[in-house]
Amino acid sequence: MAITKVWLNESENECSMCGACEAACDAVFEVPEKMVVKSGVDFSAHEAEIKEAADSCPVGVIAFE
Ligand code: SF4
Repeated sequence: MAITKVWLNESENECSMCGACEAACDAVFEVPEKMVVKSGVDFSAHEAEIKEAADSCPVGVIAFE
């Protein structure tokens, strides 16, 4: 399944604003304060990097489906 949705899920932890997601995939993630997902991005073109970003998040708050 292609990734169609990416979001910040703070139901268990909070974004620590570390910047690791932006380092892994700056086409999708930016961290002006807490992480935000850029709008208008074709997630399917960045699937490997989105998964890498989610894996690299130290607090596990990056969700995608
Ligand atoms: S990697 Fe996780 S904790 Fe770090 S800025 Fe991104 S979402 Fe926040």
